[in-house]
Amino acid sequence: MGLDGGTIISRSDILRGQSWDVANADGGASTSSRGGQLSAGKVHTGRRRVDPAERRRARWSHCALSGEPLREPIVCCGLGRLYNREALIEHALANAGTFVSETSTYAYANRTNATEGGNVASHVRSLRDFFPVHLRAVDGGRRGDRSGEGSHGRAGKRSREEATPEFECPVWGVRCGEAGAGEFVAIRPCGHVVSDRARRDAEATAVEGRGESPGGESPHCPVCDVRFHRDGCVHVNSFDVSIGERLRTAVDARRAAEDDRRHRRRTRKERGK
Ligand SMILES: [Zn+2]
Repeated sequence: MGLDGGTIISRSDILRGQSWDVANADGGASTSSRGGQLSAGKVHTGRRRVDPAERRRARWSHCALSGEPLREPIVCCGLGRLYNREALIEHALANAGTFVSETSTYAYANRTNATEGGNVASHVRSLRDFFPVHLRAVDGGRRGDRSGEGSHGRAGKRSREEATPEFECPVWGVRCGEAGAGEFVAIRPCGHVVSDRARRDAEATAVEGRGESPGGESPHCPVCDVRFHRDGCVHVNSFDVSIGERLRTAVDARRAAEDDRRHRRRTRKERGK
């Protein structure tokens, strides 16, 4: 028997099975009026699923690494995830053994300790592994000003900083991360993020224009008119498994080539000694 003086209960014994999810797994039928459980033996049915729409929106509004709201300057990695540049640079520096502040040291340690979080940006090792992107904010990013607090006071400033950003395709106006909005791509080298439909339109125009001008084969960015190559575009925050695999393969191939180059450089240097 427990609790007869012969056992010591730990905190985890008390907390085990007492979560809100477990207590309410049957709609609250076994919950007493004081909030405790009337019956024992409830089985936790696993993690509560996050609403996919919510997940999609979160990816488009928050830094994949720090979890903070996205704010300029924003960067994108080869896997099409969005980050606040500051957070990713701190991460890349920490990867190389340089810690810019005490906070960043703890943040890095926390991320690498938590397996899942550590994997988020494990493919970002240097500044070459990400590129700047330009997103069109809905309403020009002025949502925070409408908080009713006034935009000049301290509260107004705070709400503007904390406002969850929303972005849209600068060509078609479809909102990033909304159901039915489709895929979005970051065009390279300029970094403009547009809907895949706008990218396809640009490519179709380029195909039509072929033959009239010698350089007509490569399409132009619909925002800044710079020439781009289809293979250089990165799908941003895609939930399509095949696209995800393709991006991952490209990142791995680039990394392998980089490692190979580094290895050859090192052996050349050693031979030269
Ligand atoms: Zn552009």
